[in-house]
Amino acid sequence: MTPFQEKEQCQNLHLSRKIIDEETQEAAIVDPVDPEAVTAAVQQNDVKLTKILTTHHHWDHSGGNAKLSKSFADLMIYGGDDRVEAINRKIVHNDTFNIGNLSVKCLATPCHTRGHICYYVTGEGQNSPSVFTGDTLFAGGCGKFFEGTADQMYKALIEILGSLPEATKVYCGHEYTINNLKFGLHVEPENVAIQQKLDQVHIQRANNLPTMPSTIKDEKLTNPFMRVHELSVMKHTQQNDPIQTMSYLRREKDNFKV
Ligand SMILES: [Zn+2]
Repeated sequence: MTPFQEKEQCQNLHLSRKIIDEETQEAAIVDPVDPEAVTAAVQQNDVKLTKILTTHHHWDHSGGNAKLSKSFADLMIYGGDDRVEAINRKIVHNDTFNIGNLSVKCLATPCHTRGHICYYVTGEGQNSPSVFTGDTLFAGGCGKFFEGTADQMYKALIEILGSLPEATKVYCGHEYTINNLKFGLHVEPENVAIQQKLDQVHIQRANNLPTMPSTIKDEKLTNPFMRVHELSVMKHTQQNDPIQTMSYLRREKDNFKV
């Protein structure tokens, strides 16, 4: 048995994730938007839910927190923003805590919202670490810049998430992968890695399977927002600076019709 197991539920293309330390049966949930489903899953798996990891305050990520805190005593609700529903553990960049024997490191990635946090999870015996990226990094794309700038998204994607080990599994907040990759192909029509991944995710979605996890390596190969240093991407945007390239891509994607 692996000490780390991810399960998921997918409703309205929103993804919540369970993290279970199998040695201690301690569990946490990332962005639990459907409290009834979480409660049923906790009973079914016979685990002890102790923590909620909230990536940001938007209702489709933190909207289940208050209800769950009534169902589970002493639930620790983590987040980086006072607007997160029922928050009782405010965290900042590089804070750490545990879920049983698993370690969680908080990575502040402001831009989509001011208080957005990604959670990097490692544990002994685990083949590769995982990162829960909310609405900062999507497979093939990134979140809208509601409360931040291209400069901040550059820091988040290139400097923070881009420096994680390449094998790190990426779990994001929404299933937007097909449309994101179509945009990626529009930016880089010659990119074979994007074409191959698009073929693969078409099959996954046709079989009603999630396209997650991705990996940091995959994102570096297929996600235009993580490829703003590439000549092909800069050329498409007619910019010669990676942050300007990021800014252009976001504006273009906001208006992109598949
Ligand atoms: Zn959001």
